[in-house]
Amino acid sequence: MNASALSSLTDLLAPAVSAAARGNHKEGLRLLDEVLASCEPDDNLGRATCLRLLSLNHNRLGNLETAARLGGEALALYANLSDAAGESEALCTLTLTYTQIGLNKEALEFGLRALQAAEQTGELKLRCWALNRVGLAYAALKQHDNALAHTARALSLAKDLGDDEILFANLNNLASQNLVQADQLRQQGDAAAALLALTQAEAQCEQAIAVAQRAGNPMRECIALVNRTEVALQGKRFDEAEALVQRYHLLAAQHAYPSIELHAEFDWVTLLQHKDLHEEAVTHLQALESHPLMAGDSSFRLSLFKSLYESHKQLRQFEPALAALEQHAALDRQAVLRTADVQARVMMGRLQVEQAELAAEQSRLDAERQRLRATQLEQEQLLLRAQAAEWVRAAREDTLTGLGNRRVVDEALPGLLARAHAEQLPLSIAMADVDHFKIVNDRFGHGVGDQVLVILGQLLRANTRSTDVLARMGGEEFMMVLVGTPIEQAHDICERLRQAVAQHDWNQCAPGLRVTLSTGLVDRSAEFDSLRLVERADRALYAAKHQGRNCVVRH
Ligand code: GH3
Ligand code: MG
Ligand code: MG
Repeated sequence: MNASALSSLTDLLAPAVSAAARGNHKEGLRLLDEVLASCEPDDNLGRATCLRLLSLNHNRLGNLETAARLGGEALALYANLSDAAGESEALCTLTLTYTQIGLNKEALEFGLRALQAAEQTGELKLRCWALNRVGLAYAALKQHDNALAHTARALSLAKDLGDDEILFANLNNLASQNLVQADQLRQQGDAAAALLALTQAEAQCEQAIAVAQRAGNPMRECIALVNRTEVALQGKRFDEAEALVQRYHLLAAQHAYPSIELHAEFDWVTLLQHKDLHEEAVTHLQALESHPLMAGDSSFRLSLFKSLYESHKQLRQFEPALAALEQHAALDRQAVLRTADVQARVMMGRLQVEQAELAAEQSRLDAERQRLRATQLEQEQLLLRAQAAEWVRAAREDTLTGLGNRRVVDEALPGLLARAHAEQLPLSIAMADVDHFKIVNDRFGHGVGDQVLVILGQLLRANTRSTDVLARMGGEEFMMVLVGTPIEQAHDICERLRQAVAQHDWNQCAPGLRVTLSTGLVDRSAEFDSLRLVERADRALYAAKHQGRNCVVRH
């Protein structure tokens, strides 16, 4: 694809990309579907790019299974195009999706492949994203050191690049990873290490907030503030946490981010619980139960019953505490089953794709093998045909003189005769025989005799036309079928040949050698039967021998 086609693809996709950047993923999907539908069937780069962006939008909307499938399709197309940059981006999207599905090992594999592909392109930004995704996968696998190391490398690249989006993503991920580690270290009783991790998380949150503000991106600011609140909560700095919750709740309300608003409500409940205000917490939670985002299989519902259970328990209201716990357990079980189901389906999908690819590869190989075999057969056939033609030719050739043999005359003469009759064309036949050839052999040897026959073949050819049929009938006897030649003219030809033979310098073959030719000549006249015609020519030859040889007798 050339540069202008590439830029027109970028133009086509721009509205979808900007809709997604504004968080309007449904609009992004709609626009991407339109572009995908308008892609030419052979526009694989266009289709790959649409599929990758569709996958990303589905991911953001929580349609993880679809995101996984489309990401896989995009990846396959990019791989076919040998487009390492596209592959890296598709692999990054897949890493994110698989992490969210909980297929963490597979996610890490994708992430590492994304990194490899990014390194092939030499593009820093791709490398930075891939490192970020690898960090995410390691974090999901609870390999915190690896997670932090990769995300930190991504962060330092992001600083070099000066790209706010990726800078924010890495700061935010590092903060999250440090928060998880701080929590874990505290539970393990390592307070000092926990505090260190928390301090780092705080600094990263502050930087993330600054980056989001600088870019004028309230969504990112909210996300960073959520983590910053968590820092305050883990540090038991509740006043600070309260101010932070109020801050991001307000920001979320102003910009209509309902799920972040709801998150703030839960942080608020956590604060109430820390202050031992459990009745207020329960009232607050009960009010949240009817929140639209609380419906169905929302993860907020899990938080709701968990918090309800905690507060009822503290209030020693054991029955509602137990009820909340049971609901939480049931929801949790459902969520686990659902996750397992999605995981199984995604893995099955991958398996099917892999099998289909294997089958396609197999049939491609089979086709290739068949093609090769066909070519081979064709060549063998050509060879056989050439051989057969050679045999056919050889079967009609007199090997000594290179003229035809008796078979040629037997096969050709009846047809030539019939045609000459049909078209009222003249046809003459001459039968020539070497005089006293036995003596030639006896005096000069069989080798000289053979040489004489070869030279006679040449003289015969030199004195006739290429359309005439010439054959050595056996021994030292030759036949000429002169098609279209009246007998007078044939007589001249035979006479010329007789002279050519008699005058040939036979001394070159053997000193003292002399060779002459007797010829019997007939024309087709009223003769329909080729055998009878040959017999007549034989008789004429016999007459020539009787008349003293070295002459042409015409019957
Ligand atoms: P005439 O003038 O009556 O034809 O006498 P001739 O000696 O030619 O008669 P005849 O047909 O009896 O002899 C033919 C001889 O040709 C016999 C054989 O030795 C010889 N001959 C036949 N085929 C070949 C061949 O392929 N090579 C050689 N060198 N001699 C052959
Ligand atoms: Mg002879
Ligand atoms: Mg003879």
